[in-house]
Amino acid sequence: MSEYYAPVDPDELKRQRARARELRVSGWWKRRISTGVCYYCRRQVGHKALTMDHLVPLGRGGTSIRGNVVPACKECNTRKKSLLPIEWQDYVDSLADRADD
Ligand SMILES: [Zn+2]
Repeated sequence: MSEYYAPVDPDELKRQRARARELRVSGWWKRRISTGVCYYCRRQVGHKALTMDHLVPLGRGGTSIRGNVVPACKECNTRKKSLLPIEWQDYVDSLADRADD
């Protein structure tokens, strides 16, 4: 993926946020979180603890489509926001190693 991201149009961002809100109340999403498992750390945290995370953040041109949203626990979500994309990738890789046992 390119390191360069064009600035996202504020109106487009608004549209994508609205779309995410719709997706969040959809039956599809409810089924998605019903397992209660975080997409990133694979921990069972219960569906109430899962939040919607965009794989490609909206601020980086991501969209609120099914293929770009995953259930994430609060810990992963918070961590993702505080890390640079490359640091986050390292974190996800380290989790994948741990899950292999
Ligand atoms: Zn997690």
